[in-house]
Amino acid sequence: MLTEKVSQLLNDQITKEFYSAYLYLGFSNFYVEQGLNGFANWYQVQAQEEWDHAMLFLQYLRNNDAKVTLKAIGKPSAALKDNKDPLNAALAHEQYVTSSIHAIYEAAVEEKDYRTMQFLDWFVKEQGEEEANATDLIKKMELFGSDAKGLYMLDQELGARTYTAPSLTL
Ligand code: MG
Repeated sequence: MLTEKVSQLLNDQITKEFYSAYLYLGFSNFYVEQGLNGFANWYQVQAQEEWDHAMLFLQYLRNNDAKVTLKAIGKPSAALKDNKDPLNAALAHEQYVTSSIHAIYEAAVEEKDYRTMQFLDWFVKEQGEEEANATDLIKKMELFGSDAKGLYMLDQELGARTYTAPSLTL
C-alpha cells in the first residue's frame, strides 16, 4: 500500500513528465523553424522518452492499486529566441525534475516505502544521464555552434538519434 503522500507525489510526477514531453516538443518545433532538423529530431526523441516516463509512473500507481488522477498540462513557458535557448532551458528543467524525483524519494524514505524507493532508483540514475546529456549539448554548442560548418555537423549528429524504449519495464 502506498501512503497518501507518496501516491499524490507520484501522481504529480505524471503531469511533470507529460509537461516535459510537451516542453521538448515545443523545442523541436522551434528548431524546425530554424531549419535545424537534427536538433528538432533530438528533442522529438526526447519528448517520446518523457511520454514513456509519465507512463511508467502511471503504471506503477496502477500496479499498486493506487488512484491515478490526470491533471492539466501547462503551456510550455520557455521563451525561445536564440539557438542556445532550448539547450539552457532543458538543463534547468532537468535539474528541476531531478529535485522533484528526489523529493518523492525523501517521502518514500520517511514512510519506509521500500518498494517505491526501488522503483525510483531507475529514475535517479536516469536523471543523472539527462543532466549529463543536457550539459554535453550546451558544451558542444559553445564549442562548435558559432561556426556555420560546426553547426551543420552538430545538426547532422543530433539527427542520428533514434528512439529506444526505456530499460525499465513494469
Ligand atoms: Mg523524464
